[in-house]
Amino acid sequence: MCKLVLKPFLNLFCVAIDLLILPLFMNENINITLPDGAVRQYTKGATALDIAKSISEGLARKVLAAEINGQVWDVTRPINGDASFKLLTWDDNGGKNTFWHSSAHLMAEAIESMFPGVKFWVGPPVDNGFYYDVDLGDNTINEEDLRKLEVKMAELAKQNNNYIRKEISKTDAVNYFSEKGDEYKLDLLQGLQDGEITIYTQGGFTDLCRGPHIPATGFIKAIKLTNIAGAYWKGDEKNKQLTRIYGVTFPSQKQLDEYLVLLEEAKKRDHRKLGKELGIYTMDDDVGQGLIMWMPKGTVIIEELEKLAKETENDGGYKRVVTPHIAKESMYLTSGHLPYYADSMYPPMEMDGEKYYLKSMNCPHHHKIYAAEPKSYRDLPYRIAEYGTVYRYEQSGELFGLMRVRCLHMNDAHIYCTKEQFNEEFRAVNDMYLKYFKIFGIDKYVMRLSLHSPDKLGIKYVNDPELWIETEAMVRQVMTEANIPFVEVQDEAAFYGPKIDVQIYSVIGREFTLATNQVDFSQGRSFKLHYTTQDNSIETPLIIHRAPLGTHERFIGFLLEHYAGKLPVWLAPVQAKILPISDKFTAYAKDVLQQLKKWDIRVEIDDRSEKIGRKIRDTELMKVPYMLVIGEKEVTENKVAIRRQGKGDLGTKSVDEFLKEIVEEVKERRE
Ligand SMILES: [Zn+2]
Ligand SMILES: [Zn+2]
Repeated sequence: MCKLVLKPFLNLFCVAIDLLILPLFMNENINITLPDGAVRQYTKGATALDIAKSISEGLARKVLAAEINGQVWDVTRPINGDASFKLLTWDDNGGKNTFWHSSAHLMAEAIESMFPGVKFWVGPPVDNGFYYDVDLGDNTINEEDLRKLEVKMAELAKQNNNYIRKEISKTDAVNYFSEKGDEYKLDLLQGLQDGEITIYTQGGFTDLCRGPHIPATGFIKAIKLTNIAGAYWKGDEKNKQLTRIYGVTFPSQKQLDEYLVLLEEAKKRDHRKLGKELGIYTMDDDVGQGLIMWMPKGTVIIEELEKLAKETENDGGYKRVVTPHIAKESMYLTSGHLPYYADSMYPPMEMDGEKYYLKSMNCPHHHKIYAAEPKSYRDLPYRIAEYGTVYRYEQSGELFGLMRVRCLHMNDAHIYCTKEQFNEEFRAVNDMYLKYFKIFGIDKYVMRLSLHSPDKLGIKYVNDPELWIETEAMVRQVMTEANIPFVEVQDEAAFYGPKIDVQIYSVIGREFTLATNQVDFSQGRSFKLHYTTQDNSIETPLIIHRAPLGTHERFIGFLLEHYAGKLPVWLAPVQAKILPISDKFTAYAKDVLQQLKKWDIRVEIDDRSEKIGRKIRDTELMKVPYMLVIGEKEVTENKVAIRRQGKGDLGTKSVDEFLKEIVEEVKERRE
């Protein structure tokens, strides 16, 4: 109550002070550069919240944190010098992470009230929420406790306590946490220097933390604690096991409700679950972690995707090549993969005194194919494509279903062209992406132009500032001319040139980094690739690396989730299933099967002596698009009764009629 009364006065008071101070300290101004480049002057010591209020009160109410000179800050922290400035709301990752990390502090406060004497390790934000690792001593925690904690958190959130930042000396911090008896925080303090230590307090809870935090707990309106897990201290099995409590919070109940619905849907669509149920792929310990084996049904999908890619690339003037899976060390020294990317490659095999590596990229092999015959300007653009198999050593902790694996089949190609040809070639590649998106019904995607960072030339990026500027401008021009929306990101380019990263979103909003379209002005020189120009001089071609369909592994994982396993007919491993009502009709069913097979329809018969209801249910579960039910009437009339997955009964048709329709549907790759 007290707060409610006081606040308006405080605000009035602050405004009054501002008015007083402003004229007195006119020379104590700072320049704040807004994201649009506009520069505004504020009094030294102004906070992000002050700046937000000067822009709009509505905006100020939504602001969770601010980016000051590229660093995320509390909105209540005074800014004492000129700065670049960006406000962060729920829609920015920086804002969301600050919100979730602050929620971890709120959860810690609730845990401490329920389990006095609890000790805390760390509580970071994660992809979808946050966690805190805690040492509960002799106590245990169960699902029921999570519900109680949620109630306590909601109560504390309602108190709308401010998150208060305080700089503190190392001695004071050590004293505080020694008195509290929290050896984990003391361990963290050991690694910190005097002068860089801050603590944050909200309500009755104080944590060692570098921040930042949202202004107050009242921003947290909806809370769900999702999971309890064990986690070794510092991730080391030899250490004590702590309790990790996961949660997620939102600025409104509506957002939490939507999230929970999405979570349920995502579980149903999980590609690992569908991949197993539908017999798409398998893994085996004897083969090795992260090494996918495609079963017959998965292989059908692979072949259909490759057919699509080959048709599209053929239209685009690509030629196909095939290269081995290994190469000698010398090639990867030339390409620069060694020693820089040795960590992500399988260790070498020794043979005849030479080291051989499994390839982690197809590019070097393709460059050798380019170099195999002399080229003139007439041979360019030279486009070569391969569904290349590459091997990458992902850490075992990073492996995840089809998304992170150790053997990948990549929709790869390289285009070698002159500078003059670049615009058209790069644009054609972008058009190819858009064509594919249309086929797969991907209407949500983001293209990011990843640029270099001038201060990392010669370290992270090839040291050729002029070529960077030139090629970045070339890519920007193509994107702008083609009217493709894109965002620019600093310091995300490839080692050898700028690139377009494509992120797509599945129906349930899950994000996939699918593929990149990259410009490379460097490898051509490393591999001494040349062509003769019209006036007989020797030039190095530009190289475009592209893989619009990414890898089979990631793309099929995406498709399974995107379609919830109900693949369009052209991709479905089994396109039609014939379901005779009883044994009497098996002969006719086999005749129908042969007719469909003649037209390359992937078709099977369910000739088990099960009831038709059971057969339909099982076929539905296997997500087969068409079911052809055959009984007395169908045999007599020389027809089939058609059911469509998810649509039900489509009536009776002659086999020819059905064939005509399904063949058309496949040919057009209808969704
Ligand atoms: Zn914190
Ligand atoms: Zn490449």
